[in-house]
Amino acid sequence: MATTHNLGFPRIGAKRELKFGLERYWKGESSLGELKALGAQLRARNWASQQNLDLVPVGDFSFYDQVLDISFTLGNLPARVQGFHGDPLDNYFRVARGRSARGADEHAACCGGVAAGEMTKWFDTNYHYIVPEFTADTTFTLDASRYVEQLAEARAQGVKAKPVLVGPVTYLWIGKSKDDSDKLALLPRLLPAYAQLLATLAEQGAEWVQIDEPVLITELAPEWREALRSAYAALAGGPAKLLLATYFGQLQENLPLVCELPVQGVHLDAVNAREEVDALVAQLPADRVVSLGVINGRNIWKTDLNGVLDWLEPVARQLGERLWIAPSCSLLHVPVDLASEQKLDAEVKSWLAFALQKLDELNVLAQALRNGRDAVQAELSANRAAIQARCASPRVNDPAVKAAVQAVTAALGRRQQPYAVRAAKQAELLKLPAFPTTTIGSFPQTADIRRARSQYKAGELDEAGYRAAMRAEIARSVREQEALGLDVLVHGEAERNDMVEYFGEQLDGYAFSQFGWVQSYGSRCVKPPILFGDISRPKAMTVEWIEYAQSLTGKPMKGMLTGPVTILNWSFVRDDQPRSVSCHQLALAIREEVLDLERAGISVIQIDEAALREGLPLRRAQWQEYLDWAIESFRITANGVRDETQIHTHMCYSEFNDIIQSIADMDADVITIETSRSDMELLDAFDDFKYPNEIGPGVYDIHSPNIPTEAHIVQLMQKAAERVPAQRLWVNPDCGLKTRQWEEVIPALANMVAAARTLRGQA
Ligand code: GLN
Ligand code: ZN
Repeated sequence: MATTHNLGFPRIGAKRELKFGLERYWKGESSLGELKALGAQLRARNWASQQNLDLVPVGDFSFYDQVLDISFTLGNLPARVQGFHGDPLDNYFRVARGRSARGADEHAACCGGVAAGEMTKWFDTNYHYIVPEFTADTTFTLDASRYVEQLAEARAQGVKAKPVLVGPVTYLWIGKSKDDSDKLALLPRLLPAYAQLLATLAEQGAEWVQIDEPVLITELAPEWREALRSAYAALAGGPAKLLLATYFGQLQENLPLVCELPVQGVHLDAVNAREEVDALVAQLPADRVVSLGVINGRNIWKTDLNGVLDWLEPVARQLGERLWIAPSCSLLHVPVDLASEQKLDAEVKSWLAFALQKLDELNVLAQALRNGRDAVQAELSANRAAIQARCASPRVNDPAVKAAVQAVTAALGRRQQPYAVRAAKQAELLKLPAFPTTTIGSFPQTADIRRARSQYKAGELDEAGYRAAMRAEIARSVREQEALGLDVLVHGEAERNDMVEYFGEQLDGYAFSQFGWVQSYGSRCVKPPILFGDISRPKAMTVEWIEYAQSLTGKPMKGMLTGPVTILNWSFVRDDQPRSVSCHQLALAIREEVLDLERAGISVIQIDEAALREGLPLRRAQWQEYLDWAIESFRITANGVRDETQIHTHMCYSEFNDIIQSIADMDADVITIETSRSDMELLDAFDDFKYPNEIGPGVYDIHSPNIPTEAHIVQLMQKAAERVPAQRLWVNPDCGLKTRQWEEVIPALANMVAAARTLRGQA
């Protein structure tokens, strides 16, 4: 009873071994053989950590991205990399990262340079995959070697392997047609490759194959539903048994479809779709396996095991051998091992579970189901004690914060006067020219800055020394901006390690791990702060730095803050209250900071909401609810100021079409966005909507080392002026400059300022 399995394990390593191995190889400091050996070692270690499971995932390991892996398995390589005659793994990295034709790599001369594949977010996670590319001519040729090799390794290790792969319909759905052809038309060509792959996996001894179709939790157009029907009609009946895996949400209207597909088992995310368990059990034919994802694979909290057993036991009695249990989704989205944490606050640590601990929890549940709760009484009571302690902890519950959120009214989020009135008052106070120039906040994080920060953290530099070093950097930024002739200055964010962590470290209710890394893409990892309790701000977080910067110049100095929605979306958040409540708490804390900045004489304040869009739920039907509380939170943060105080917000993307009403509802006086790569066409959303406030469309692509010319910037701004009245336009880069070098930034900004002057002459 209750077969245990896992959908996927983090491959980056508990100490980010894969990251460092990849980077060594890319820098030419290690050989391909060494890199491949590291991969085998990590797989062996990951399987050993999962040995208590009845079925262990194989094929989830990846040197870069599991979607790019399946593209290579299916022989769907972009035309630009076909014909490469080096090692296939090198070719794989060419697609993942791109290669310059003049680069040092040994095939640059013969095989030329290639552009990297586009990257985008895997459903609503912070994991980015390489987007499969399709054209009307795309064909598929199976190369199952990766699976065959890994299955052989698993066999040698005595692992009960269950290969995992992205399913054919999800594969098409997440890809992009490069020639506007219909990607679904490729399905008949794709399915034989999948059928052949499944046959190969069975030949290699796999009894079960996990085939992931997370599209099933989204709203699907009829042709996509039909594609699922025809795909599984074609793939069923092969030698391997198929476990159709769905995760990240509820099936809703797709539940009957799922039950209809002729697979041997279905995995449901029983954390997000707990209320669908009964319907699935009732509707799924009686010979099917029901796999329930009972442990949250997306957060870092201990599971309430007793609570899960309360509902799971009756289901288990009903299903008997047909029940499987697993985490809700692949554990790719959580850090590896809580035991690595040496500095984490002990109380908070006692509430947490990372990947390995989640698998331990799964084992406890399985034993309780098989042998009764008494068999694991010690584990269950320790778990109960931890859950209760967290629930009751004064660190989690702050009655004053709860009361403040309760007392929030719409008035708190409203500016005193409408934009037009404010704009006139702000113009009088700030006396800015037409086409005012500014930057998005950060200036280069130089080696000196990073050295000072690490010395300070290691105790080699005292607080006074660190502050002096940061002040010197701020002074340098101000000097450079004055010399460039920018109109609204920034302090440069030298003192910030990260735009979320910086605030999390100063707010009560946050904790920080040492090794809580999660893969974001390739070798890049993020370490989201852990929001565990009611949020409050013990003291001002930015005021001293901004006041100091303002003291160095007669020009307006922009106060720089991260908004509540972005802080929330880039953190591990609480599972014991709605996200909206945590967001409102953050909003109230940052509102205090905004008001403190205003009191300190700062008349322009920017509140970044870089992650607002990415928080949108996967189902459109749920968008409005999210937007309502997200926008309300921003308004609470921003709108307590006087009419004269100018509020900016910044978002690093340019798709606003479908959320433009909400963006307008934020009522920021100025919004800066990313547009330089899209040639200003994306301003159409603002034009069509008649967006009423000021806009700074980015004219300098900060992701590229290229220096934009004055003429190019003028041209972009002229295009912008066709869409937004010139008197409401600002001139600024796409995003912050922290990843660039001063040598690039100075000429680029000089061209930007020159362009603004030219535009003023023309206006
Ligand atoms: N103010 C931040 C910076 O300039 C904004 C970064 C972002 O939007 N991602 O770095
Ligand atoms: Zn940005």
